[in-house]
Amino acid sequence: MTADPTGTPDIVEAADAVLSTHVADEFGFCEGCLAEYGIATPHPCTAHQWATRTYVIAGEPAPRR
Ligand SMILES: [Zn+2]
Repeated sequence: MTADPTGTPDIVEAADAVLSTHVADEFGFCEGCLAEYGIATPHPCTAHQWATRTYVIAGEPAPRR
């Protein structure tokens, strides 16, 4: 794993991308899972949980989405 010049690990950028796409729709299902996998998944989905946990492990506050 390489770090960018700002010192932010790539894994946090990946987590940020997940959090920006895996958001709840008006019925409580994940829009990201439906778009990427065609599966209606209750939100927060596994990908969202992974991203949130990744922020915790990196010691950074996760963005609220
Ligand atoms: Zn999802």
